[in-house]
Amino acid sequence: MSKLIITVASTGAWPSKKDNPAIPLTPEEIAADVYECYQAGAAVAHLHMRDDEGKGTMSADKFEKTVKLIKEKCNIILNLTTSGDLNATDETRQAHLKRLRPELASYDCGTMNWMNNSVFMNHPKFLEELGMTMQEYGVKPELEIFDAGMLYNSFYYLKKGVLKAPLHYQFVLGAAGGMTATVKNLVFLHGLMPEGNTWSALGIGKGHIPIMMAAIALGGHVRVGMEDNVFYGPNELAKSNAQLVERAGNFIKLAGHEPATPDEAREILGLRV
Ligand code: ZN
Repeated sequence: MSKLIITVASTGAWPSKKDNPAIPLTPEEIAADVYECYQAGAAVAHLHMRDDEGKGTMSADKFEKTVKLIKEKCNIILNLTTSGDLNATDETRQAHLKRLRPELASYDCGTMNWMNNSVFMNHPKFLEELGMTMQEYGVKPELEIFDAGMLYNSFYYLKKGVLKAPLHYQFVLGAAGGMTATVKNLVFLHGLMPEGNTWSALGIGKGHIPIMMAAIALGGHVRVGMEDNVFYGPNELAKSNAQLVERAGNFIKLAGHEPATPDEAREILGLRV
């Protein structure tokens, strides 16, 4: 039996209440939602903020407010995003990390075309700076991998000292512009990853369940939540993020494992205590 980490990505930068009325957008809604997910078995919360119009924002004030509300309720590990705001600068993508020093934050290992309508820019200069900021402030990077080239970029930054082993990967499959969410792709990426690292995976949309089951079978951790998937089943909206967390916990138990608590996840990920 292993302890497997469930991460909940409750909000993301793009889905709206029109896509799923249950998606949490304000600091209060996000904090309440994350607490429910913690009670349902999530050990990590990956957070995005929205501005008052519901658009993705890197506002450090919004992050601060949300983080405070969550910490009043539970000890879930917080993973703050460094992307998802179209007006963000290299500075605003790091300001909240410096102010709040979360245990984890996302680190997107390369630039890609995004959903056939924009460019998800992660300039080499920015990635070097972000890696050094994270080291300085004791934030562990979660390396988001959308295609195989990004995995190879992570090896380069490891060699250069911008990233430090052991690494923690999040395979994000199914975003247009990256690799599709198939089990074959996950097995391929998994085979390229050196031993001794930790990893998790998610499939966006219809690849959600197959990727979750394959990740569990391969000994990885899993991520669920409305950032990736607003549906529970075909034509059935998820009632809440907690519902998605609960299902992930059931899959983990069916496979003979247990969902990790936040403290167990801290140990698995080698986070500062
Ligand atoms: Zn995200």
